[in-house]
Amino acid sequence: MANGLNAFSRDLAVDLGTANTLVYVDGKGITLEEPSVVAVQRGRGGVLGEVVSVGCDAREMLGRTPGNIVAVRPLKNGVITDFRIAETMLRSFIHKAAGTKGFFKPRILACVPSGVSEVEKRAVYESARAAGGREVYLLSEPIAAALGAGLPVMEATGCMVVDIGGGTTEVAVIAMGAIVKSASIKVAGDQMDQAIAQYLKEQHQLLIGEISAEHLKVTLGCAVPYPTPRDGSIKGRDAETGIPKEVHLSSSDIGQALAEPIKLILDAIQRTLAATPPELAADILDRGIVVCGGGAQLFGLTEVIRETTGVDCVIDSDPLRCVVRGAGMALENTLLLNRVAMA
Ligand code: ADP
Ligand code: MG
Repeated sequence: MANGLNAFSRDLAVDLGTANTLVYVDGKGITLEEPSVVAVQRGRGGVLGEVVSVGCDAREMLGRTPGNIVAVRPLKNGVITDFRIAETMLRSFIHKAAGTKGFFKPRILACVPSGVSEVEKRAVYESARAAGGREVYLLSEPIAAALGAGLPVMEATGCMVVDIGGGTTEVAVIAMGAIVKSASIKVAGDQMDQAIAQYLKEQHQLLIGEISAEHLKVTLGCAVPYPTPRDGSIKGRDAETGIPKEVHLSSSDIGQALAEPIKLILDAIQRTLAATPPELAADILDRGIVVCGGGAQLFGLTEVIRETTGVDCVIDSDPLRCVVRGAGMALENTLLLNRVAMA
């Protein structure tokens, strides 16, 4: 159990996300933030072989790798899909997070999404062990997010946190250190990117890669119209001729492409609110909803949540680091950790 952890050893908290991995070192803070991407050599028959690079270097290769190298993301929808590559990636990140001093078999607190199965939890546990963790503890992501957002997690009042990551959106109502109600849907940043790529294919017969789709989302994407519409353009391949071409777009095009994934996220929030016991729902109404995760930065998202739910909604001040910050807080407070850790 978590009794083995104390505030004096160099322990780590890891947010192993579908899109980004962050590492918090006890007593130091966040020392690593990199995309969860690995470049791997492709062997005979497409078998994945040697790992070539990890993180930022590997992301550069996504969608534009030479024939014998593929850039892969070892997590999908919040869970590990390629154990060997996830473990190699984690080991490399832990090594890097340690800096020049290095770690001697650190203890690791790893965050896992709320909706995962025992098998999926086990995969995170085992990969952290295999990556060099002497002892591994698990923490539910929404709890970490709520701690990171400064919500009164251990108190009897209810609070709601919505984490919109790469592969999943996690909605949770938390009171007294535990999740009272939650929803986890496989609709978040990646699905927004896919919706944009799909829209361009249907409306403009243009094929684009995931990096381009994400770029459009960040620069033109919106959940409500911009006060002054934005314009942009994107290059891709013509779906029929295969010839490179450029298409001009506005923020309202991208807003339209994102309507469906945004609706699904709003539905999940509504459903969770509707299932929340009245006393806690009243607390949430007083306190408001906090959103975090990279996807929370989509223009107008808090506004549309406010409009549909009638509950105030704010974005965490540092949404991409919210989960790892909360996990770091638990790591540095043994009492807190003993109350919230799962494994
Ligand atoms: P995970 O925890 O699953 O790794 P993150 O919380 O790191 O995910 O968020 C990554 C997601 O946030 C990506 O899909 C990325 O495209 C998206 N994102 C980052 N910045 C923005 C932005 N300004 N607007 C919309 N989405 C964004
Ligand atoms: Mg996350």
